[in-house]
Amino acid sequence: MSMHQAVRTPADINMSGWYGLLPPPKAPEVLRGRHTADWVIVGAGFSGLAAARRLSQLVPGDRIVVIDAQRVGWGAAGRNSGFMIDLPHELGGENYGGSQDHDRKRIRMNRAAIEFSAAAADEYGLQRFFVRAGKFHGAATDHGLAVLREFENHLTGLDEPFERLDGQQLKTITGTDFFVGGTFTPGTVMAQPAGFIRGVAEGLSSRMQIFEKSAVISLQTGKLHTVKTAEGDIAAPRLILTVNGHLESFGFFNKRLLHVFTYASMTRPLSKSEQAALGGEPNWGLIPADPMGSTIRRIGDRIVVRNTFTYNPDMSTSEKQIAQIGAAHDRSFRARFPMLGEVPMEFRWGGHLCLSLNSAPAFGEVEERVFVAGCCNGLGTVQGTLYGMLAADLAAGADSSMLSDALDEPSPSKLYPRPVMAIGAPLRLWAMQRRAGREL
Ligand SMILES: Cc1cc2nc3c(=O)[nH]c(=O)nc-3n(C[C@H](O)[C@H](O)[C@H](O)COP(=O)(O)OP(=O)(O)OC[C@H]3O[C@@H](n4cnc5c(N)ncnc54)[C@H](O)[C@@H]3O)c2cc1C
Repeated sequence: MSMHQAVRTPADINMSGWYGLLPPPKAPEVLRGRHTADWVIVGAGFSGLAAARRLSQLVPGDRIVVIDAQRVGWGAAGRNSGFMIDLPHELGGENYGGSQDHDRKRIRMNRAAIEFSAAAADEYGLQRFFVRAGKFHGAATDHGLAVLREFENHLTGLDEPFERLDGQQLKTITGTDFFVGGTFTPGTVMAQPAGFIRGVAEGLSSRMQIFEKSAVISLQTGKLHTVKTAEGDIAAPRLILTVNGHLESFGFFNKRLLHVFTYASMTRPLSKSEQAALGGEPNWGLIPADPMGSTIRRIGDRIVVRNTFTYNPDMSTSEKQIAQIGAAHDRSFRARFPMLGEVPMEFRWGGHLCLSLNSAPAFGEVEERVFVAGCCNGLGTVQGTLYGMLAADLAAGADSSMLSDALDEPSPSKLYPRPVMAIGAPLRLWAMQRRAGREL
């Protein structure tokens, strides 16, 4: 039995464009008074909702409660670029790949998570937010091209299909001649992340209670765990924590989680004449050859640019930081789309990524009947879903080879001492982003 006081709770600032494109949500149900349940899940992002959906399949009669500090889709789950990637996607590496054995296992697990999400999209009528479109990688330099060729060799070794594109073919798709070549891989789903995650929560709400704007301020674990918010509490024998980097705010995985923010800007709608000047196809998503470069998406009449990583150990960013990085987005946008002149950004935002030094997730049973799934190393739409599902399997006693594989994975390794991290982490990010050069 132990007490975990939250030393901080999430408070993401600036609405993401994805959230802003949706109709306003209905009023939230806030946790008030005393409640009991069979299961409490804290965190309603990709991990939490996957755990909730999986539990509802495994133990259909049980009372499940999900609780989030913010509106569903307001946090990182609705702030990301929406690439649900089936292939290896190692942000810390130079070309996304890892060892072949590791990557084969990763692909099998990622695909299982994508199919789990696809079933939710079908069940809840969310196909417009979940499109099996594949992803492009674009190289802006000869070095980038060499990196992509290495990536293609890796895919060949894994027996995974891809298509090689030259600069002209990429221009036909994107409208810009910024890219000298690229690679298309077919297995990625392109999501409208806030639309998808809100839709899943709405779909689940007929089977369980979902409380929003109800930050959990303490957890008392024991025979019955008690989850406390400012205005209420819930007692339940089983608890699943899917709060991503905020696991550390409750004292779990101390000094093992790396809190990084990344940022995006979305244009206002392009006029018909701007779209004609741009050319290309109306919907596509492109990942940079260098993992530290700019991700670009076109969604009909808007363009979204994501780049820049910052180290934010206090798990928050500021308006000032978002505005400064917005200037970098504008530079990247203008370099790629000079034909669009000064089209302004309508939305700018940042969001919290949780990474670990060894790219391992925070997963498992951390105390008796307290399960966690988090720290998905930049691919949380897929791996959050995966570890959320598997946390539910573990908690409900469902066995599978994937669960055994997940339990065999290492835990997040220890970070360097705080003063070393304070200097070393920003420096390393700066060096990696500098290496990206024109890909940024
Ligand atoms: C700009 C950007 C671009 C990205 N692009 C991609 C991409 O293209 N593809 C991809 O796979 N990933 C991407 N990511 C990463 C992805 O968004 C995350 O990995 C993913 O959201 C993690 O899912 P999660 O459910 O584990 O955590 P989260 O989405 O962070 O959800 C955790 C939830 O827990 C809640 N919570 C935390 N503490 C408490 C508390 N005390 N009480 C109650 N609730 C609490 C939070 O409010 C939050 O809603 C991107 C992220 C950003 C910011």
